[in-house]
Amino acid sequence: MDHFLYRAGALHAEDVPVAEIAAAVGTPVYIYSAATLERHFRLFDEALGDLPHLVCFAAKAAGNVAILKLLGDLGAGADVVSLGEYLKARAAGIPGERIVFSGVGKTREEMCHALAGGIRQFNLESEPEMRALSEVAAEMGVEAPVTIRVNPDVDAKTHAKIATGKSENKFGIPLAKARAAYAEAASLPGLRIVGIDVHIGSQLTDLAPFEAAFAKVAELTEALRADGHDIVRLDLGGGLGIPYERSNSAPPLPVEYGQMVRRTLGHLGCEIEIEPGRLIAGNAGLLVSEVIYLKEGEGRDFLILDAAMNDLIRPAMYDAWHDIVPVTEPPAGTETQPYDIVGPVCESGDTFARARPMPPVKPGELVAFRSAGAYGAVMASEYNGRPLVPEVLVRGDQFAVIRRRPSYEEMISRDTLPSWL
Ligand SMILES: *Cc1c(COP(=O)(O)O)cnc(C)c1O
Repeated sequence: MDHFLYRAGALHAEDVPVAEIAAAVGTPVYIYSAATLERHFRLFDEALGDLPHLVCFAAKAAGNVAILKLLGDLGAGADVVSLGEYLKARAAGIPGERIVFSGVGKTREEMCHALAGGIRQFNLESEPEMRALSEVAAEMGVEAPVTIRVNPDVDAKTHAKIATGKSENKFGIPLAKARAAYAEAASLPGLRIVGIDVHIGSQLTDLAPFEAAFAKVAELTEALRADGHDIVRLDLGGGLGIPYERSNSAPPLPVEYGQMVRRTLGHLGCEIEIEPGRLIAGNAGLLVSEVIYLKEGEGRDFLILDAAMNDLIRPAMYDAWHDIVPVTEPPAGTETQPYDIVGPVCESGDTFARARPMPPVKPGELVAFRSAGAYGAVMASEYNGRPLVPEVLVRGDQFAVIRRRPSYEEMISRDTLPSWL
């Protein structure tokens, strides 16, 4: 559920007409709904209910400091994968004790900054990384709280680029090597084992792969405890999918996920950490764009938008579907016609949808990509010399620019000329 609805024929973000924001900020523009972000965070928080738990928003899904602050103020922690995200979470007021540091390639510099600034735990992904953190922490005279990310070798049944829990993926340590890895961690100075971490992929639309992975985590918890390790936290990662195509999909709800967590892991008495990104931010954001041209082709018509793959790369990168709707509601009974919906970038990959049934749309009209709040603005670039897309946050009848569009001068002035040119 989200807060982007037609009212009196005009698409609104909460109580603000989308067209009003587009007129004020220009297009393309990302628009987020605070109420939707809040609602999705609470769904997870309530789904884990009486279990001791922390919901750590995966900052990589939507890393704007304003979004992190909104969620942090509700009590969310953050799952970060770089020093940049760590610093953004801190700038948003999220305390170090609510920040978990994930990622396969944490550098010593990143470890050092996070240890100095305060960190809940590092989720370690390999033995070399474990040894590096041990050295850094020991040198600083501190103890780094750690989990080890295990790779449970389950098929998440999602797009290949966002499946992370099979043995062929670069993530985590194979289950078969986990006990040896924990034994080594326990023997190294500067590390304090606090739990186990697992994250099998993103946009999962079925609970079964989670359940298979969590069952393996439960077994491992018992085995590691028998080995003498203090396993008090289980970080279950993120990954719950959202209905990108409203007409034909209904992924599991956070409440069902919560019940399954309780069923598979509840008896272990551990604090549960989860790291949802997409399910919190995905349906909380729109990308709004203006139709520049309608180009009649052979056997197909192209809607050419002012948004492109540099603003929203998911269709090009993951073959992703986004519902695309006119900002002005078409009258009931309007017949649709198929359009290829494309951006202006000089690549055929810059195609958002093919033969998409749409009510007739004219140049100058606005369209909105639904479910664009996660892995949208964060993956934007300036490819083709297009300034970075701005972001707006709506709450009730107010909206605020939370990242402004850089001017062309700003974009150009970041490049510097060598003295000898
Ligand atoms: C990407 C990622 C997440 C968030 O995944 P979603 O599918 O957005 O919920 C959580 N944890 C880790 C380690 C990740 O890499």
